[in-house]
Amino acid sequence: MLRAFRSLFVLLLSFAAIQPTFLSAQTPEPAAVPANAPYKDTALPVEKRVQDLLKRMTLEEKATMLSGSGWMESAPIPRLGIPSIKMADGPMGVRSWAGSSAITNSSTNPVRVETTSFPSGVAMASTWDTALVQREGQAIAQEVKALGRDMILGPTVNINRVPLWGRNFEGYGEDPYLSGQLGVAYIRGVQGEGVIPSVKHFDANNEEFERHRLDEKIDERTLHEIYLPAFKAAVQQAGVWTVMSAYEKVNGEYCAENPYLLTDVLKKEFGFKGFVISDWGSTYSTAPTVNAGMDLEMPGGPPAKAMLKSPRTIMSGNSGLWLEADKVLADVKARKITEATIDDNVGRILRVILVSGLMDHPHTATGEVDTSAQQQVAREGETEGIVLLKNQNNLLPLDSSKIHSIAVIGPNALVARTGGGGSSLVRPKYAISPLQGIQKRAGTGIEIASALGVGMEGEDPAHDTPEARTTDLKAATEAAAKADVAIVVVGRYNKNESEGFDVKTMDLPAGQDDLIAAVEKANPHTIVVLNTGDPVTMTKWLDTTPALLDMWYGGQEGGSALASILFGDANPSGKLPVSLPKKFEDSPAAKNHPGQNLHTEYAEGIYVGYRYYDTKNVAPQFPFGFGLSYTTFEYSDLKLNRLEFAGKNGRWEFSVKVRNTGKRAGAEVVQLYVHDGHAKIDRPTHELKAFSRVDLKPGETKTVEFSLDRSAFEYWSPQTKQWTLDPGTFEVQVGASSRDIRLKAPVEITH
Ligand code: BGC
Repeated sequence: MLRAFRSLFVLLLSFAAIQPTFLSAQTPEPAAVPANAPYKDTALPVEKRVQDLLKRMTLEEKATMLSGSGWMESAPIPRLGIPSIKMADGPMGVRSWAGSSAITNSSTNPVRVETTSFPSGVAMASTWDTALVQREGQAIAQEVKALGRDMILGPTVNINRVPLWGRNFEGYGEDPYLSGQLGVAYIRGVQGEGVIPSVKHFDANNEEFERHRLDEKIDERTLHEIYLPAFKAAVQQAGVWTVMSAYEKVNGEYCAENPYLLTDVLKKEFGFKGFVISDWGSTYSTAPTVNAGMDLEMPGGPPAKAMLKSPRTIMSGNSGLWLEADKVLADVKARKITEATIDDNVGRILRVILVSGLMDHPHTATGEVDTSAQQQVAREGETEGIVLLKNQNNLLPLDSSKIHSIAVIGPNALVARTGGGGSSLVRPKYAISPLQGIQKRAGTGIEIASALGVGMEGEDPAHDTPEARTTDLKAATEAAAKADVAIVVVGRYNKNESEGFDVKTMDLPAGQDDLIAAVEKANPHTIVVLNTGDPVTMTKWLDTTPALLDMWYGGQEGGSALASILFGDANPSGKLPVSLPKKFEDSPAAKNHPGQNLHTEYAEGIYVGYRYYDTKNVAPQFPFGFGLSYTTFEYSDLKLNRLEFAGKNGRWEFSVKVRNTGKRAGAEVVQLYVHDGHAKIDRPTHELKAFSRVDLKPGETKTVEFSLDRSAFEYWSPQTKQWTLDPGTFEVQVGASSRDIRLKAPVEITH
């Protein structure tokens, strides 16, 4: 009896195991593909080719395409000539595709891919230069093709909500409009080269803490006004080909299986036609994930199996391999997934393969990377991205005819800290440290001394002891005292500011505040340079600091760009894409970070960044949009020139004059904010709705034009779930930062 039971059990088990094979055995042999099959006809519209391909594919083939075939490859269907999409990590350059960050970051990584390391996202955002960001996207795409890959996993457009997010350096700051416009530019650059971008992480990936388990409670208005607009712009303005979902849960559901986010918002509301790709190891179910609108699960195949077995993965809560063909087919058989849904998923992947040209013109690994043209874009990006925050008595720029000696000091002065850690960290062929950049620019006429000052906390045990600290500090202050000028470069690096964890405190790592204070005491001509992605507390030394620059993480050309700003070869034009608070407790989300019991509530709602500081009158250390120059600008003649009003297509055109009133050529980022004082709902005191970067020679005046559509005046109504405009008098404000409004003009909107 027992034996009979056991054999029945074994029979059932083996039936379960062979079920998928059994399924495919039922499927008739696919028909042979004629040489003139319509999908091969490059002259036919893409939609026709997609439909033709779908008709020729078996259900098994379609199901195979829903999960990756490797760490960074989608599944090909060779019978039909459907290629695998070969991906590479980004967004600040092309990173290896060999495996997880732990593998590719290790010094023994067998596949070393060395490419151009571009400045961090936050540095590129500080340029407010959409043309330059587009050129960066293009340069990166050219490297992708040169290496025989097809897709770059970027840009990152998540909002800087909390000053401690470990990945703030990857994104474009705190403002949804600015992030959206820069994301659009990057995507245009990439897609223009026939390379596939992936705008990430959809949605609201704003902290690293327990990112595989965290549930974020965010109301619909906040999602629509703060965390969705950059993705909407990517879809509607750039026609982005792919969107990567985020790791965490939003309102109770994982982003990878969130029908509200993926289907209702992204596909229906925004009209997204490309495919959604999961973040690596972020799926937790089969039917709910497919039905929610997930099109391609990554990674897949043996590398995914290996990853899921690793104790590190298990501990962190990654999950995956839910969209393997067997599992999907079983759920089709069980009527949990319809074939029509699978056709939609696969149709989206095919559409991107065809639209990008991948099927007709595969990328061959025959190009060059790290060319002088690509290096040039990296250098320009960082030069424009460095922000001058303080410049007492015009200490900067340095006059090389008057200076004889410089002491270059600090844990980030002697080493090039190109980027934060994690999947975005690019391995460059070379990287110029601040010291190297300054040495090269100074030439032989200026004596350069250097000193560590303090070891980077946790980096080198030999410099992490109290004795070593005393010795290092002494050497630094002595060097500073002897020099005409001291330059202290402080900040973090890729091991204490990284994907995977949040930064513990806004304070600089151990000993750096003391180093700045001591050097400032030893030399009144001290210039402090911040080299981080996240904001840092400056209250301990800022009052006595004569000059301050924020160079963020500057990519491989960071040191040379810094030197060109210090010596005045370039005039600083960077503007903060994020408010820098005085202390963490001042930031609007401080009380809700990282949350409790794996839940965090976005209780600050739409009051993120300057929307909070400016509305609630909390003074930040440095406001959003702020940045000094070696020249000065005057604003005049703000005018509403033209009003084209036809309901939904209303358009308001403004102009303003900007004059360079100083003696040096420079660039000003002119910012336009809209103030709505009459809305039926609480609104921030003002919101950025347009900006323009303008180059001006000394004495030159230019007219800057802005065009606003109706959306610039609208808010998202939680009642009607619609974008809404309350008629009345709005105010258009034009200025040089969110707290430096120079001109205002009323705008009457009657309906
Ligand atoms: C990151 C993504 C990245 C992916 C692949 C994930 O851990 O969140 O941004 O593209 O890994 O490396």
